[in-house]
Amino acid sequence: MQRVLFVEDSKVVQQVLRHLSAHYLNVAVDFAWSLAQAKEFVAKHEYSLALVDLTLPDAPNGEVVKYTLEQNVPTVVLTSKIDEYKRQQMLELGVVDYVIKDNRDSYHYAVKLVAQLLRNQGCKALIADDSMLSRSLMKQMLEKQLFDVQDAYDGEQALKMLKADPEIKLLMTDYAMPTMDGFELVKAVRNFRGRDDLAIIGLSGAGKHGLSARFIKYGANDFLTKPFMNEEFHCRVLQTMEQLSLIADIKESAYRDDLTGLYNRRYFYQFAEKLLKETARKNCLALLDIDFFKMINDKFGHEAGDQALKQVASLLRSSFKDFTVSRVGGEEFAIVLTDVNIEQAYSLMDAFRARISDYDFVINGQSFTITVSVGLTNFQNVTLTNAMRIADKALYQAKEQNRDCVIKQN
Ligand code: GH3
Ligand code: MG
Ligand code: MG
Repeated sequence: MQRVLFVEDSKVVQQVLRHLSAHYLNVAVDFAWSLAQAKEFVAKHEYSLALVDLTLPDAPNGEVVKYTLEQNVPTVVLTSKIDEYKRQQMLELGVVDYVIKDNRDSYHYAVKLVAQLLRNQGCKALIADDSMLSRSLMKQMLEKQLFDVQDAYDGEQALKMLKADPEIKLLMTDYAMPTMDGFELVKAVRNFRGRDDLAIIGLSGAGKHGLSARFIKYGANDFLTKPFMNEEFHCRVLQTMEQLSLIADIKESAYRDDLTGLYNRRYFYQFAEKLLKETARKNCLALLDIDFFKMINDKFGHEAGDQALKQVASLLRSSFKDFTVSRVGGEEFAIVLTDVNIEQAYSLMDAFRARISDYDFVINGQSFTITVSVGLTNFQNVTLTNAMRIADKALYQAKEQNRDCVIKQN
């Protein structure tokens, strides 16, 4: 689990930071008032990142920055004002970035910056540039932003690396390179990696204004003109990566069911179609339907019915961690069991059936039981429509046979 340390002596600022981090950060956050307290925290925990105030009562000259950096904690500085001398000093010390506290929005920016840096951690970036100096400079800058950085000396090599590693999330590419230039590279990469899956920032020399626009036309997300300032590079990369994560969040929520948090019907269909194309694997499909669910609604109310659905979803999630569970209808769920044959799938589904029927559901102080019926079928060398039809037929049989059972159909 990632953990962040905030060091700030102003009560008001700390309160603002607490509020913002509860909203934006999904990690453990510790707040220290002073350098001494920061030291106590660092002795106890490992930190992914620190956000520190440059002037503290027991550290008036930025001593806390030196301390956190010495402890190998990547550090973002909060400062009330900064002159060119101080700016240089900070950058030379190796801070990730600094944020000037001159309005309420600065804290907002600082916390969002921390959130993005945490997301960058372990995220792969690739630099394509024929100049070794330029490569190593950018590598250093991206590493400061916590990326895991690789580099390539021309477009062809970069293309190979991108094809081999779908986990690369950011490409920074120069325009002029031997064998394959930046435009060719961007065009080729966009054939297999979309704009919201891989961020591309094109780099071009000063005075060549047309280049930047062309980079965007060929599919880059943004561009930078060389030479660039540290801060400019930093902001462009952060902003581009933030857009990528926003799109990922939107996509994720479009694939989730609001009530249970499980995948929804739309996701299930896309996932299942894709899986069926990989015919080599042995998979099974189970359709699970809660028995007499209408009675639960009638007896305990719709709200209690919702709670029961949530609990069933949570039991499904914990029982089928390695598989894909979706809510495909009101009280109907689909489980795709990958790499198991139908006998193994039968045992797993029947064990779940037994677990549910033994489970004591308690909602609003009222205790009741629930049973489920399951239709199970093979899920390879078949169309999705046919597999669904067969599983549905098996489920219908299960309902006919007194419910609370699993029926498999090859
Ligand atoms: P069977 O054993 O034949 O499946 O009987 P059943 O009552 O479970 O099946 P039926 O299809 O007749 O009724 C399903 C019920 O599920 C009706 C509907 O009101 C309820 N339901 C569907 N979605 C939700 C939901 O999101 N919340 C709640 N509380 N109820 C829901
Ligand atoms: Mg039902
Ligand atoms: Mg139903």
